Amino acid sequence: IGDLGGVIKVVLLGDSGVGKTALAEIFGGLEDSLPHALGDSEDAYERKILVDGEEGALVVYDVWEQTDSRGWMQENCLQMGNAYLIIFSVTDRRSFSKVTELLLQLRTSRPNEDLPIIVVGNKSDLVRSREISLEEGRGVAVMLNCKYVETSAALHHNTRELFEGVVRQFRLRRSRR
Ligand code: GDP
Repeated sequence: IGDLGGVIKVVLLGDSGVGKTALAEIFGGLEDSLPHALGDSEDAYERKILVDGEEGALVVYDVWEQTDSRGWMQENCLQMGNAYLIIFSVTDRRSFSKVTELLLQLRTSRPNEDLPIIVVGNKSDLVRSREISLEEGRGVAVMLNCKYVETSAALHHNTRELFEGVVRQFRLRRSRR
C-alpha cells in the first residue's frame, strides 16, 4: 500500500472466530466505495467511503491473529493503527471477557493517546445463542470509555454504520486538536 497520508489505519482486534475476517471482507466490498490501490497483502482492505458528504479513506488490517505468541508482532499491531475495533461475538462470553484485556493492552501501548476505539458485538443475528445482551455489551463499552456497536456480518447489518462510525470518531478527534 502506497502513500497512507490522510488514510485512517483501522486495526481489528479480538479473539479467534468472532468475525474479524468476515467484517473486513464486507468492508472490502462496500458497494458504493471506490476500489483503491490495494497492496500486496490480502489482510489489508483499502477503500474510500463517503461520510457526511466527505470522502474518507480507510485501510482495515485483519492481522491480529497472525501475531499469536509473537510479542513484537502484537506490539507492532498496537502501534500501527490510528483507530481500533475490538470485536467479540455476542454468542461467546469468553471472547467478551477478552475485550477489557485487549483494551488495557492497547492503552498501555499507547498511553496518553485519545484513539478512536469501538467495541463491536458481532453475530447479532444468532439470537438464540446470544450470551451477551445489548445492555451488558454497552455497559462494558461505557465503562471503558468506548463507543459500542452491534453488527451481523452474516446479514450485513450495521456494518456500513460501523465503518462510518470509525471515520466520524477519527474526524471528531482531529477537529479537537
Ligand atoms: P475471525 O477468526 O475473527 O476472523 O472470524 P471469522 O471472520 O473467520 O468468522 C468465524 C466464523 O463465524 C465463520 O464461520 C463466519 O462465517 C462466522 N461469522 C462471522 N460473523 C458472523 C455473523 O455476524 N453471524 C454469524 N451467524 N456468523 C458469523
